[in-house]
Amino acid sequence: MKAISIIGSTGSIGQSTLRVLKAHPGKFKVIGLAAKNNAEALLDQAIELKPKIVCLYETEKALWLEKKLKKLNIKLATGETGLSAVGCHPDVEQVIFAAVGAVGLKSIFDAVDAGKDVAVANKEPLVMAGELLMKRVKKEGVHFLPIDSEHSGLWQCLEGRPKETINKLFLTSSGGPFLKGKRSLRYVTPEKALKHPKWKMGPKITVDSATLMNKGLEVIEAANLFGVPVGRIGVLIHPQAVVHALIEFVDGSILAQMGITDMRLPIQYALSYPSRLVNTLPTLDLTREANFEFLKPDTKRFPCLELGYEAKRIGGTMPAVLNAANEIAVQKFLDRKIRFTHIANTIEKVMNRHKPRQNPSLNQIIESDVWAREEAERFTLTC
Ligand code: MG
Repeated sequence: MKAISIIGSTGSIGQSTLRVLKAHPGKFKVIGLAAKNNAEALLDQAIELKPKIVCLYETEKALWLEKKLKKLNIKLATGETGLSAVGCHPDVEQVIFAAVGAVGLKSIFDAVDAGKDVAVANKEPLVMAGELLMKRVKKEGVHFLPIDSEHSGLWQCLEGRPKETINKLFLTSSGGPFLKGKRSLRYVTPEKALKHPKWKMGPKITVDSATLMNKGLEVIEAANLFGVPVGRIGVLIHPQAVVHALIEFVDGSILAQMGITDMRLPIQYALSYPSRLVNTLPTLDLTREANFEFLKPDTKRFPCLELGYEAKRIGGTMPAVLNAANEIAVQKFLDRKIRFTHIANTIEKVMNRHKPRQNPSLNQIIESDVWAREEAERFTLTC
């Protein structure tokens, strides 16, 4: 049985991970669980899975939860150190990271330093500190297993192939809810932005998919994960969302990864790697997917994608700044404080004001993240 911990167990990816575990009884054992603030859901999971350690990141309901867990003989930890304790527990072999945003960045480094394999669903670690993180992964000789569906696709296509045979990597995007039509996106409401045509995901990433910032972040993620210059990573709008990623070899031959749009698939592969497990998920019927389209992204209507490329070209602390400004702007949009089109404006403004540092340390990256959040807060007040 593989011993695992899940950081972000009550969120969308965390719940999908637990469904994958349930579908394969006897194959995995849960050692640790961590959630941001949903103490009730975390308690239910603890009762069912009997982990050794549980972390509630925010402390508001910690006392209540601690009392309940005590009866079950389960230890409670809190905050950033609590996340690290869940990931670094001596019995853990692999940690699933599925937190939202920059929370938990340090705990991934701690898990890698403790020799754990890390399966990462959230983009922030690779976007903010990807070069540093991948260096550490190499040094410690652990596995970094991508769960983001496009990166899982690239990883499956690339497996074992020499780098010099690769010409280009392609990520696909369904285009989000506003792909069709030419109308201005200025008056888009959160309700409309939260209606993703293909994937069921949490609110932050669903808005990112509507602005195409999700793809901008994924370009940075792919560049850092696979050590490929950003100029060799392309984005294709593919509304059917059947092909998740493609690689083009130097001879022009292309390999593609396809599958249903269900996160349980990349989660399961990250858990079972290098083998594959039989499951009961529906398979893809290609005869029902008649018309495959691949379109160029419209970077005028969706400027966030280009901002992603720009941040990675500048490098250093700039991707962390892009990510932080985006997180604040998306939250302000969801809270109806700014318009949809102000998301890109905010990010651009904050990036323009940033003096990037090259080869930053983790602390310098976190400093830039904090700075960019304050700048974005300030700018969104005047939107
Ligand atoms: Mg993705």
